[in-house]
Amino acid sequence: MDLGIAGKWALVGGASKGLGWGCARALALEGVNVVMVARGAEVLNKSVDDLRMETGGKVQLIGVAVDITTEAGREAIWNVAGGPGKDYDIVVTNAGGPPPGDFRDWNREAWIKAIDGNMLTPIELIKATVDGMAARGFGRIINITSSAVKAPIDVLGLSNGARSGLTGFVAGASRSAIAAKGVTINNLLPGKFDTDRIRATLPAMAQKQGKTVEEMRAIQQAQIPAGRYGNPQEFGAICAFLCSQHAAYMTGQNVLADGGAYPGSF
Ligand code: NAP
Repeated sequence: MDLGIAGKWALVGGASKGLGWGCARALALEGVNVVMVARGAEVLNKSVDDLRMETGGKVQLIGVAVDITTEAGREAIWNVAGGPGKDYDIVVTNAGGPPPGDFRDWNREAWIKAIDGNMLTPIELIKATVDGMAARGFGRIINITSSAVKAPIDVLGLSNGARSGLTGFVAGASRSAIAAKGVTINNLLPGKFDTDRIRATLPAMAQKQGKTVEEMRAIQQAQIPAGRYGNPQEFGAICAFLCSQHAAYMTGQNVLADGGAYPGSF
């Protein structure tokens, strides 16, 4: 299927590895020019170079090594040489998730950091780009959130809280006047994907249940109807479809990618 987005410009946060990388790769393979953001320059530059090889130089790929959750980082993104300024057609909001823990230990600073990273940063990125998209008559915004928005995970309270705030905002913003101007905003909710993020959260969960990390991994996989963790490539393919011309009539949705783990009918 031709997704009809070749030649467009995408901004993808958290794109040096994991789910953001999966989205950047899937879009680039569809002919989309991509600005890829992550803080660590070394891993990011390698990911950009590898993708340049894979796409045979057919698209423009630009790495920006900044913290996307800061104003200075976002300024650097809008001003990067060779980029489209704020005139993106596609924006995939994503950065690292907050750390796991016990809610009794989280002070105001921990909460502000989580809200900044997982709620206010996506909102700032949307604010900066959405009116230009509407004026040009095409726009796709995908927020990578979490299945924890639908089925909260106790040790990920910072994530549950901050992402639920974003979800409420998107429900309203996606249905505003931009909806009739070809702009869609959807949230893509990962369940369990085999990335560094899951490798970082597993030890806390294992410790809480008195298991080894390997035992915890096996328990989690057995609880997923698909019987396995997902991989970034299949996550990226769903993201690319949501960014396609074919998904024009889908907006304000929370799309789960979790191997069937969420047990509800809706
Ligand atoms: P990951 O493999 O750890 O990758 C995170 C990416 O984001 C890296 O490229 C990282 O690079 C970048 N990043 C982190 N903080 C950043 C910042 N402040 N500014 C710019 N880039 C930043 O994580 P992932 O599994 O892909 O997870 C992506 C998101 O999905 C996270 O918010 C995570 O909580 C959420 N999620 C993941 C799963 C899962 O199963 N994997 C499930 C539910 C939700 P640098 O560190 O170099 O910046």
